[in-house]
Amino acid sequence: MADNKSSVLTVSIVTPDGEVYSNDQVTMAVIETMMGDLGILANHVPVIASLRIGETRFKFNGNDMDTVAVNGGFAEFSNNTLTIVADSAERKGDIDVSRATHARERAEQKIKDAQSKNDTDALKRAQVALQRAVNRINVAQH
Ligand code: ATP
Repeated sequence: MADNKSSVLTVSIVTPDGEVYSNDQVTMAVIETMMGDLGILANHVPVIASLRIGETRFKFNGNDMDTVAVNGGFAEFSNNTLTIVADSAERKGDIDVSRATHARERAEQKIKDAQSKNDTDALKRAQVALQRAVNRINVAQH
């Protein structure tokens, strides 16, 4: 008997600066949620999850892979459609490593300044900026 279950997921990644993925078809997605990594194949049960600053990985038909730096946000999966709403996101090939390296250096300096002034708000902001920069560098160099 014919099996009408899909073997692909349709993925969109939406950010304030535009779409990074737009109804693209993948065979697997791995997202980094606050609760840990989650692999999603077609016909997975519905999911809604907050995302860490981390990597989102996709596998395509034919086994090609793509990695996207997703810098916080949330993911919703249902009916074989994965939607990621992110604060910012860059595909591996679109990451400017030199920019991220400078951002990392700035964030490290801001962390030192905030620590010396006991400025906890500035420290938290700088730590998040450092995480974004390190994540971009890791994704680009993976
Ligand atoms: P920077 O200090 O370099 O601007 P940031 O972490 O403050 O880094 P964001 O505010 O997260 O930057 O992002 C602003 C925009 O710039 C977003 O569209 C994001 O995708 C893009 N962006 C930030 N850093 C990079 C990078 N290293 N390579 C490519 N795009 C980037």
